Amino acid sequence: MQRKRMVRLLRLAFALLTSAALLLAAAELAVRFEPVTAPTPPMTGAYVQLAADERLFTLFAALNAAGYDEENNEQGFSAVRQQVRDELAGKSLPSLRRLRPYLAMCRFIHVSQCATWVLQRGSAPDFARAVDDWAIQAPALLFFGFDRALAAFYQEAEIAALWQAQQPAYAAEIERYRPLVEPAVAEVFAYLRLTEPPTAGVIVLPNLLDAYWRGYGPQVGTLSYVVMGPAIEPNVGLIQHEAMHPILNPLVDVHLDAVKRSQADRLFAALEPQVGAGYQNWPAILHESVIRAVEVRLADPAERERLLRQEEAQGFLLVRPLAAQLAEYEAGGEPMATYLPKLLAVLNEVTTN
Ligand SMILES: [Zn+2]
Repeated sequence: MQRKRMVRLLRLAFALLTSAALLLAAAELAVRFEPVTAPTPPMTGAYVQLAADERLFTLFAALNAAGYDEENNEQGFSAVRQQVRDELAGKSLPSLRRLRPYLAMCRFIHVSQCATWVLQRGSAPDFARAVDDWAIQAPALLFFGFDRALAAFYQEAEIAALWQAQQPAYAAEIERYRPLVEPAVAEVFAYLRLTEPPTAGVIVLPNLLDAYWRGYGPQVGTLSYVVMGPAIEPNVGLIQHEAMHPILNPLVDVHLDAVKRSQADRLFAALEPQVGAGYQNWPAILHESVIRAVEVRLADPAERERLLRQEEAQGFLLVRPLAAQLAEYEAGGEPMATYLPKLLAVLNEVTTN
């Protein structure tokens, strides 16, 4: 009797677990392969463009309303960020309750991933799916319903009016960067000796609701984006940095075996506690280190030592050996696409203590 009961209970538990797993798998597929219903306007004109993006503004307005307070500038938030926060604080926003779990998820998986997500969506107020690739390094099911929650917030917070009111500030930021973006990206492409552009275009989006000097460089569909936070002086280095991510990340990923497994494990164990929360896996540390090493080499030679020390203070101890090896790369004529394994191989000689 006892035993029969036990078997029945186990069967029930198994059936429940199986259906839960099936439901999760179905949700994952439904979100990941959600049909594209919003149009994507074709990229025309210059290869590098600047734009103001209302989707990004909506996402970051919501993040700010829900307690995204991180800031790198000792003088505090940008004027735009402060104004929008003040406006939102004066509104009653019941929709925030529905949005909060998603925003907490964004901060947990990294805000950059949610910036990528919103750039896959169509325009406000619907935020319907516009790009069929899933470019986010997190389970898709976490995003189930996010579009509708954000759309409700957009209406309730009257984002259209807030966005309209900030147009002059975005236009001024775009004008400030207009002469700088094209040469900045061209310099990077020339340094990497690219034979053809890696994507259909680069779109640089000022993100005045973010922390100062913060940037993201997602590739969404056929386009590369540079999402850049406010900056006191125009932040050309950030544009170059973010423009390199869609080029160098995949290259590094196919050459991970250039660093021996045991050495990679040792280096990762030494670096992981020192670098920021956005770099908690070995490929992410490598992407970042290679890109920062190129940035050091693009800088004025008189500045390089200071930049290297800054990298080391932030825990990026691989930037110095990589930057040293880049001197050899520069002296040769090989494109980065084929030189990269040789560059990474210097890390086999690095010791940590
Ligand atoms: Zn980066």
